[in-house]
Amino acid sequence: MFLTITTTGTAERPATDLGYLLHKHPDKAQAFSTSYGTAHVLYPEAQPERCTAALLLEVDAVALVRRGKGRGGAPDAALAQYVNDRPYAASSLLAVALSSVFSSAMRGVCHARPELPEQPRPLRIEVPALPARGGAELVRRLFEPLGWAVTAEPIALDGEFPEWGDSRYVRLTLEADTLTLAEALRHLYVLLPVLDDAKHYWVAPDEVDKLLRVGEGWLPGHPEQKLITSRYLSRRWSLTRQALERLELVRLAEADDSEVEDIDNAVEAETEDEEKPTPLAVQRREAIVTALRASGAARVLDLGCGQGQLVQALLKDVRFTEIVGLDVSVRALTIAARRLKLDRMGERQASRVRLLQGSLAYTDSRLKGYDAAVLSEVIEHLDLPRLPALEYAVFGAARPRTVLVTTPNVEYNVRWESLPAGHVRHGDHRFEWTREEFRTWADAVAERHGYAVEFVPVGPDDPEVGPPTQMAVFTMTDKTDETAKADKEAKAA
Ligand code: SAH
Repeated sequence: MFLTITTTGTAERPATDLGYLLHKHPDKAQAFSTSYGTAHVLYPEAQPERCTAALLLEVDAVALVRRGKGRGGAPDAALAQYVNDRPYAASSLLAVALSSVFSSAMRGVCHARPELPEQPRPLRIEVPALPARGGAELVRRLFEPLGWAVTAEPIALDGEFPEWGDSRYVRLTLEADTLTLAEALRHLYVLLPVLDDAKHYWVAPDEVDKLLRVGEGWLPGHPEQKLITSRYLSRRWSLTRQALERLELVRLAEADDSEVEDIDNAVEAETEDEEKPTPLAVQRREAIVTALRASGAARVLDLGCGQGQLVQALLKDVRFTEIVGLDVSVRALTIAARRLKLDRMGERQASRVRLLQGSLAYTDSRLKGYDAAVLSEVIEHLDLPRLPALEYAVFGAARPRTVLVTTPNVEYNVRWESLPAGHVRHGDHRFEWTREEFRTWADAVAERHGYAVEFVPVGPDDPEVGPPTQMAVFTMTDKTDETAKADKEAKAA
């Protein structure tokens, strides 16, 4: 069983980063023993321009049969157990090997280069012999909705006798450049066994949890969600029904326009229900829109736009003539596009708005020349060591006249009744700052890049601990970096 993953790259983003992403060094061939045999990882090519990792699984057919029996699998005593296509065809065993050999990559974790997993890369995946019950047609229906360009060629039973027809195997090639490696591995992990349709191990109830976890972000709402779920769970109807119900809940939650996105809002809904206060997220958006109007901006960037609520609010005011939402998460952008009804928007409205996929950890020439940029609840999602890269991308390279940055004020956390002491407000917050910490950072950024900065509280400004959200309003001073530097030197002299 054999599968290759190829990526291309440039001097700045070398293809050999694949080694970091997979946690396997390109210079070494490595072997891992799995319950079904030995998995080898090797790199047939590893250049900055192009790098290929291959996963080769050598199946131990005897271990496979023994294992099947031990676990109560169908004990048909036939010789067929030992003589079958398992060792040669990519199948659910390959999926299991993928998840054990590349488990961190599948979870999108890379401690050495934390920014890498979230960046989509050009990817090409090849599986020379894939058992595909349902044929090339089903392969396309499964992978195309996920953003893959699919080539699935049926393999003839015997090249010398074409009249015998096609085997149930296809040669599969998948290509995409909008997906991350983790997404790609998660697609394969689920869809290889779905196509094989002969899962080799006993399906336990926790398979439903696993499927929902690995399917996060792509399975809910997939047009073949039902077939995928049923086959993945070996057509065990009670499990399938349970999984489909849970997928439907996820889909509804994602399509829901309600504000409950992070604990800020959840907490408020829970504790102050009688008075129905304005949720903090809404207050934050109002504060941002007010500051943008005051700045006189017409062309606005919403950096880390998430599911597009601010973009939607800005569209309601005609003074904002161009609104660009950027996010690293394809899933968030998909939801944003749905929320904005981009596909049904009139031409005039549509010409005012754009959604871009990109990472703020890199300078991006598409972001130059705007009047204002908003970073609403974004900086705390980056690891602190990545913050200087974001700072440079926004204040050094994109350089809009106005920049608004909001972030939680950690001092206020003691006022959230249901937030356990010492906890941050959202599972993905890498840090939360005091007012002092935020000021120190913002003052230094302003100083380095020729901006003046003011601070605005958002939400109730508590006399002791301050407001729940803090906002910095940066305005470019008319000096460029160079003149500011010259000034400073003159002053020092
Ligand atoms: N601005 C929105 C969403 C905040 S959640 C709001 O105020 O509600 C933080 C968002 O930042 C997420 O959508 C996340 O995908 C995005 N994000 C995190 N790191 C990013 C990066 N490096 N580049 C671009 N977006 C990023």
